[in-house]
Amino acid sequence: MQVVSTREELREMHEDWRHHGNHVAIVPTMGNLHEGHLSLVELARQHAERVVVTVFVNPTQFGEGEDFDEYPRTLKRDTQRLKKLDADVLFTPDVDTVYPFGIDKATVVSVPGLTRNFCGASRPGHFDGVTTVVARLFALVRPDVAVFGQKDYQQQLVIRHMTVDLSLPIRIITAPTVREADGLAMSSRNQYLSEAERAVAPRLHASLQAIGTELQDGKRNFAELENSAWAKIEAAGFTPDYVAIRRAENLEPPDRDCDEIVVLAAAHLGKARLIDNIVVSI
Ligand code: AMP
Repeated sequence: MQVVSTREELREMHEDWRHHGNHVAIVPTMGNLHEGHLSLVELARQHAERVVVTVFVNPTQFGEGEDFDEYPRTLKRDTQRLKKLDADVLFTPDVDTVYPFGIDKATVVSVPGLTRNFCGASRPGHFDGVTTVVARLFALVRPDVAVFGQKDYQQQLVIRHMTVDLSLPIRIITAPTVREADGLAMSSRNQYLSEAERAVAPRLHASLQAIGTELQDGKRNFAELENSAWAKIEAAGFTPDYVAIRRAENLEPPDRDCDEIVVLAAAHLGKARLIDNIVVSI
């Protein structure tokens, strides 16, 4: 595996790969890699001859007072983990490479429709940061395929929208959420949990699953189901941010005959803000 950090290095590699007719997959990450990220790399490998993993803690997707400074940076360990997989390149650009005119003068890519609610409402500017950096990483790496995790459900929808809207010739693949044995979705932010909080954390997923079961049993009282899950996670010690039952394709409120539902939640637990979702066919 090659570790590169400049545009020039990428360009050279790209020319070589194109010459050999290789397809390229990108897996964008902020590093601190866990099994969830590694599953994305494995999936990418199934869709392209060359896999580029990017590690970049993107300043523009963190809001005021969020955890940009504390965000765990573990490049040495990440490099070792990726070497054991079949990644071809680890791309670790610095801020100037990604934002050559500086952050204040950067062109912003924004997807207004899908970003008003949920994480977009609680984290103003977050999704603009995400789409802005992903568009840049796409332009730098020039992939044919890009893999994102279902764990960040709204994010992958926003990126799909951006890709179609800008006619980017890139296929977006969404990979299933990888969980700990007790159901907690793996996340770099789980490290912020104390031992006691860690024991409570799986209740978020459990409450989503409870809604999923009710939906599959034919219940359609969406607001009541959301409220009861909210009460359950609050009673468990979380400060809920949202619990929502929505149409999987566009996050609009479902009607009674909608057949693909996503149940999404975000909640604070101690220092961590945890998000999770499940998709239910009804
Ligand atoms: P991050 O480094 O947290 O920004 O995540 C990079 C990519 O990994 C995103 O596409 C995430 O959705 C994905 N991801 C994070 N956690 C998981 C997980 N537990 N399972 C699957 N994908 C994940």
